[in-house]
Amino acid sequence: MQKYNVLTLAKNALTGHRNWPRAWRSPPLKPEYDVLIIGAGGHGLAAAYYLAKEYGQTNIAVLERGWLGGGNIARNTVTIRSNYMRDESIPFYVKSVAMYEGLTRELNFNMMHSKRTMVDVVQTYPKMRELRRRQLTMDIYGSTYEQISTEELRRRIPALTGGGPEARLPVIGGMVHTDAGVNRHDAVAWGYARAADALGVEIHQQTPVLSLIRGADGAIAGVETSKGTVRAKKVAVAVSGHTTTLTETAGLKLPLRTMNLTAFVSEPVKPLVDVIVNCPDSGFYFSQSDKGEMVIGGAPDMGQSFRRDIKQHVFEDTVTAMLSLFPSFKRLKLMRQWGGHLDIAHDASPILSATEVPGLSITAGWWGGYKAIPAGGLCLAHLVTTGEPHPLMAPFTLDRFRNLDFVMESGTTTAR
Ligand SMILES: Cc1cc2nc3c(=O)[nH]c(=O)nc-3n(C[C@H](O)[C@H](O)[C@H](O)COP(=O)(O)OP(=O)(O)OC[C@H]3O[C@@H](n4cnc5c(N)ncnc54)[C@H](O)[C@@H]3O)c2cc1C
Repeated sequence: MQKYNVLTLAKNALTGHRNWPRAWRSPPLKPEYDVLIIGAGGHGLAAAYYLAKEYGQTNIAVLERGWLGGGNIARNTVTIRSNYMRDESIPFYVKSVAMYEGLTRELNFNMMHSKRTMVDVVQTYPKMRELRRRQLTMDIYGSTYEQISTEELRRRIPALTGGGPEARLPVIGGMVHTDAGVNRHDAVAWGYARAADALGVEIHQQTPVLSLIRGADGAIAGVETSKGTVRAKKVAVAVSGHTTTLTETAGLKLPLRTMNLTAFVSEPVKPLVDVIVNCPDSGFYFSQSDKGEMVIGGAPDMGQSFRRDIKQHVFEDTVTAMLSLFPSFKRLKLMRQWGGHLDIAHDASPILSATEVPGLSITAGWWGGYKAIPAGGLCLAHLVTTGEPHPLMAPFTLDRFRNLDFVMESGTTTAR
């Protein structure tokens, strides 16, 4: 792998940047590997990288039905944070946020990480109580969360001019999470892909997996792809939103349903807000991109859905709520809208687990799984190699559904 640094940049500038080596190879698909990872999104690519780097496994193929980094990782709003509610969740997200902060150096790829703080705008006393409770739990695990007054909130976010004392839902205060940040989603996918490839991992784009194959003993034996059968004794499913469509081919039923989550983006405007703004009572959040666009997200559409756009009423609800707090945004022109898929368990916590099919692992149920990519990849690599859950993910196996040991998580995302 050619290092990206000032010298290689200068050298390649002299030849008009035409001689950079390819960031990853496109080798022919072999009939057999030690490990197959299905899905070249953030979780699949990170797992491949840590399998090679931390566990010395390199006979790995990542199989992607489209192009790498073209799934939900390309559709998300890049909020990285660790302000969760449950004792089981917070240490995992603290680890993941810390790993993100070192990722540029680790992968030698500029993640454009911007640790810019998230500010919650609170409008109801039950929500304030819940967030204060989160603060107390987060304190134990070294994650930052602090209450601020309405005056301080309005000072930090000058565009917050709605929600006055006469409003139906007046602003009553805020919470500040200084560990939160944003980065560049393409860089996460490309950085992990390039580094994994350099360690010997093969990435096969345009290779959809059609079904999982079980051997006579019931264990996983490989997969059927559009390019033929590929065999492996270890298969990890990392297809976010499409988990059940694949696992059903091996006769596995999972407690997941797929939902549509959407976002939209404005034209670029001058710097207006330098934090991530989250309005949990009103059901929307936004941040300003480096280009100046407002990147705006709402609550998920709770019905089962595989659509990839935004329903009109979800869009209208989000915009109405946003304008009630940020009335000046009515002058923003919106440029694009899109949606993605999340497969969600009813306790809103992820599932990173071995399954009843020996050799088959899954990583799924990631409601806000972008922030989870580094630690999620590491934990999946651990599970695939050892057969045991990583300590950070031990509460999140399928056993919790057998033992009714749910991790009811309210810190997932903004909810209506
Ligand atoms: C609108 C929106 C906003 C979001 N905002 C945030 C946020 O601010 N913060 C946050 O933490 N999370 C956020 N998320 C969630 C986050 O994007 C996902 O949880 C995370 O990207 C999922 O992990 P992934 O990157 O591995 O998924 P993906 O990028 O979806 O990777 C899965 C890959 O599997 C491939 N695949 C599927 N089926 C097959 C098959 N049969 N064969 C081969 N390949 C297959 C897909 O093509 C895809 O490339 C958001 C999601 C959406 C939709």
